[in-house]
This record gives sequence, C-alpha cells and structure tokens, in this order.
Amino acid sequence: MAPADLAPPTMRDVLDARRLLAAHLDPTPTRTYAALDHATRAHVVVKHENLQPTGAFKLRGALNLLQRLTPDERARGVTAFSTGNHAQAVAYAARTAAAPCTIVMPTSPNPTKADAVRDLGARLVLAGSTFDDAREHATALAADDGSRLVSAANEPLLVAGVATAYLELLERAPDLDVLVVPVGGGSGAAAACLVAHALAPDLDVVAVQSAASPAAHDSWRARDLLARPNTSRAEGLATGTGFALTQAMLREHLADFVLVDDDAIDRAAALYLTAAHTVAEGAGATALAAVLADPERFAGRRVGVVCSGGNASPAELRRVAAHLPG
Ligand SMILES: *Cc1c(COP(=O)(O)O)cnc(C)c1O
Repeated sequence: MAPADLAPPTMRDVLDARRLLAAHLDPTPTRTYAALDHATRAHVVVKHENLQPTGAFKLRGALNLLQRLTPDERARGVTAFSTGNHAQAVAYAARTAAAPCTIVMPTSPNPTKADAVRDLGARLVLAGSTFDDAREHATALAADDGSRLVSAANEPLLVAGVATAYLELLERAPDLDVLVVPVGGGSGAAAACLVAHALAPDLDVVAVQSAASPAAHDSWRARDLLARPNTSRAEGLATGTGFALTQAMLREHLADFVLVDDDAIDRAAALYLTAAHTVAEGAGATALAAVLADPERFAGRRVGVVCSGGNASPAELRRVAAHLPG
C-alpha cells in the first residue's frame, strides 16, 4: 500500500478537479479516423491530449495541484524534475498561479521541451544524465529553498487532475471495450483505472510501457517497487523505478500491462501523422503502437487510445519520417 499521505484520490477529487480545471482548459477532442481503423482492424477512438496548451495531458494534474496551494506555499514556490512534459505542465501552472518555479531536467534534454520551460518563465537547472539523477538533484534543491517538490507520480492531486481526461473520454465514448494508456510514472494509467472502475466497470484498462524502460511494468507484475534499466527514447515513458501511489492504484484495477519496443513506437507516430494528421511524440504514440502490435487482441473491438503528448523534437520527427510510406 501507499503511505498514508499518499492516499489514492477518489471520484470526488476528480469531480473537484474538473470544476477547477473548467476555468483553465477546454476539453480535448475525441476523434475517430477510418485510416486508423483500417490499419488496426479495430474501432479506434483517439483522445487528443497532444492538443493541450503544453502539448501533453500532465497540465491537468499540475493546474489542479498549483491552484490548490496555500498562499504561503505559493510564495515559496515549486520545484519539479522531469524529462519534459511534467516540467512544462508545472511551469505553466506555476505561471498561472504566480508561484516561482524551478525545473530540473537531465542534461541534454529534448530542446523543444527545454525551450518551452524557459518560455514559460521557469528557472531551468540541468543536472544528471537521467530522470532519476534529476530527481535527486531536485529533492536536494527543494529541501534547501523550502519550495514544494512536485513529484511526477506520487501526487494524489496530479492523478485526480489527470483523471479528468478519462471522464471526458468516457462521456464521449461510453461504449469502449478497452482503453490503452501509456505509462511512465503511472499517473495516467492510475487515473484511467480510477475513472473506469467508477463509470465503466466492464472496460479493461491496459497499460503499455517501452520495453527499454520497463520499471512500471515489472513493478506491477511483481507487486513490488522495482528499479530497472531506463533507456527508452520516448521521454515520457523513461522512468527507472515504480512509484508507490500509482502502483497501488494499478494493482487494484489494471487489466493488463504490455511492452512495445521503441521502433514500434516510431512506426505508430508515423501512422498518426498520415492517418490522423496529428503529431505524437514517442510516448504519445505508444498506446497506438500497442494496438498495432497485437491485432489478435484488439481486432473488432472498440479501443480507446490516449495520444498523450505531441512534443516531438525535430530529431525525433526526422527519425519518425523514415517510417512514412513511399
Ligand atoms: C508523462 C507522459 C506519459 C506517461 O504518463 P505517466 O502518468 O507518467 O505514466 C505518457 N505520455 C506523455 C506524452 C507523457 O508526457
């Protein structure tokens, strides 16, 4: 179980988050594409979180958390560590809440994401070669300056905020058979499990991670928090350990957890470009990659796929372009 201060959020928290977020964010589109159905032989419903103002779903959680800080907490500010999208989300939400914000990213970050953090007015610190190194540095910084450390996964308010995406999706597509969610720290999948369990108990939530960064997958299978090699190119999925809060929630309601390789993720991103006219970064294309990888399982079913983010770097787009037809 998660420690007591990490009690999982409830549906009431999700509804509170939705009320709060309504003032800040429009719902994202829910779309179907004949070309995606053709390629997957399934009925695919895409939830376009890549169209959020910061290009990823994490903004929902960050706004929910930052808007609920006390005046004193706001004044002391927030620190976050991230390979990119959590950073942008916290920076955006901190600007909205007028709270000082420090972001720690691993050295050599995705330049698209690093520039976005600077553009949002946050202080950017580059430290460590991986997400886990950046976490240690950020923890020390926050202990030093008294700011609130915002974890990417062990935060009930983040999970509750993120869950509003699944509320929107199930309202628009109440008849899904299965929902496929990409996993890094697990907030998205935990949120999907919470909402699906409450609103659509027959809906199977299937999580997917890159085989090159399988910590969340292996932790879920072992029912333990494990550290694993972490070399996925898909930054949003690149975590090296399982997180207590999200793993506890996944243990309750997740139907299955699968792995795909990074090249399959690139092919799915290319398909998004041609079939759905949409830019997905690697993590954003991973749910679709899982559907493409297992037609036996998904063919003929109504499958929700979360296109979780669109912050592909120029280098990533060039690599994905190699998979375009013709
Ligand atoms: C963070 C992220 C994920 C993984 O989400 P978790 O909640 O950390 O599991 C997936 N896709 C994108 C685009 C992300 O930024």
